[in-house]
Amino acid sequence: MRSHHLSFVLLALVAACTSPAIKQPSLGPAGPAQPLQTAPAASAPSPEVPNLNPVTPPAVSGDMIFDAWAAEFYGRAIKAGIPRDLLDREMAGLTPDPRVTSRDSHQPEFSQPISAYIKGAVTEGSIGMGLRKRAEVPQFEAIEQRFGVPREILIAIWARESGYGAIQGDFDVIRAMASLAAQGRRRDWAEGELIAALRIIGSGEARRGQLKGSWAGAMGQTQFIPSAYLSTAVDGDGDGKRDVWTSPADALASAASLLTKAGWARGQSWAREVTVAPDFDFALSEGPKLVPEAWTALGVIRADGLPWTDADKTASAQLLAPAGATGPVFLLFPNHFAIRKYNNSVAYALAVGLLADRIAGEGAPQRPWPAETPMSLADRMTAQRALAAIGFNPGTPDGVVGMGTRTALRAWQKARGLTADGYLSPAMVERLKTEAGAGPTP
Ligand code: CA
Repeated sequence: MRSHHLSFVLLALVAACTSPAIKQPSLGPAGPAQPLQTAPAASAPSPEVPNLNPVTPPAVSGDMIFDAWAAEFYGRAIKAGIPRDLLDREMAGLTPDPRVTSRDSHQPEFSQPISAYIKGAVTEGSIGMGLRKRAEVPQFEAIEQRFGVPREILIAIWARESGYGAIQGDFDVIRAMASLAAQGRRRDWAEGELIAALRIIGSGEARRGQLKGSWAGAMGQTQFIPSAYLSTAVDGDGDGKRDVWTSPADALASAASLLTKAGWARGQSWAREVTVAPDFDFALSEGPKLVPEAWTALGVIRADGLPWTDADKTASAQLLAPAGATGPVFLLFPNHFAIRKYNNSVAYALAVGLLADRIAGEGAPQRPWPAETPMSLADRMTAQRALAAIGFNPGTPDGVVGMGTRTALRAWQKARGLTADGYLSPAMVERLKTEAGAGPTP
């Protein structure tokens, strides 16, 4: 698995957001504990050979927390319709995977600046590889016709998700989801994915041995979690099966299916680089969604000087300055937000779009990425606490510079007559520290 998925590393990316995406676990607290489920065996759907034994904990791993969870989950899974013999077979001998729980709780000390993330994703090597892959999948034409998602976007997702299938993750998804569920931080989510994984096995679409993926349950070449596989994966090569693990056409068509469900608009851009008037109010960034001509009235034009296409003219777009007012500025179209359903990170969606642009023969952003300093977790938390102390609530100080922090930062910058780009630079951290240290603002 690539590092951008690990430990919601992304939660540390400067531009990361924290709301759940289609295929990512929520970072929110686990839901309320479920009551102990003691459904009698007779109430369970029992295909083929009925199991007359009473419901007993299926796993005796020796880990008390895991075994207690497994005993409760067993009843819940039966209630959800998982056949008892399937449950018995797949949960036999199950133990928690310490690699999963340690990755789940890891938060990197330093966040990677968005410019570094994008420079790492959009390289001459990745562009060249993307160009080669474009010629390797004969079904691209059919996938584009069916879903309206350009092949370059799918290729860029394929690159980011698994390095074109090379790095799909080797975690046993059943064990990984059981480990996360037992740990409890996102129990409801993990149990839902575990039940979905059991359903995949029960359906015969994949065997247990095939259900390999990332520690967070993302499977195959385009990294589908089990519930997304069940609801959204499609057959792309016409053999009647949905094999996201070994069939690139299936994995890519499934990715297109996910983007379509997420609102992909055929024929529209995902974003366009823009330039803004010298007196532009950056407090409008990550704010209103307006049609391009409304942005033009505010001094925003395409960086390449070209007019808006007819398809783009009708779309509502949001302005983003991901590295602050001195870096490239974009208008984000609905397709950008569809990519964020794949992975709810601004940096991820920008990297996918910018790599796709290059594979499609377009240029890099005209404005270079500025030099950025990696911010420590301590600095990020200090800035959040300072904002709260001086009356600009960023939400719970957690070191994640998400929408709440950026919105608070913009409000504070605007109130102080600074460029309100919501960008947390070392200079802003120092200024916030000084202001908070000096006591409440008059
Ligand atoms: Ca297939």
